[in-house]
Amino acid sequence: MLPLDPQADIGRRAWVACPNCDDARGCDPCGERRSCSEHWRYLLSNTGSLLHLQCPACTHVWEHESGFGATRSPWRRIGSGLTGH
Ligand SMILES: [Zn+2]
Ligand SMILES: [Zn+2]
Repeated sequence: MLPLDPQADIGRRAWVACPNCDDARGCDPCGERRSCSEHWRYLLSNTGSLLHLQCPACTHVWEHESGFGATRSPWRRIGSGLTGH
């Protein structure tokens, strides 16, 4: 087991399934994608929409692409406006 990262802060959590221990399998709140009080991950840091996470159950560290943040292109919205007529 790895030690907890010094950046691990219980005030910064993310609800992402752990790819290592899969501890949320069969859990009702997690299955409904709600903020489960038992199954959450430390959010160590993020780069744009890429999250660096650590699982408090098995201390696995991984990166998760959230799909949110600064990487979305603004061009699609502008383009759809120009082709409206
Ligand atoms: Zn885990
Ligand atoms: Zn859960």
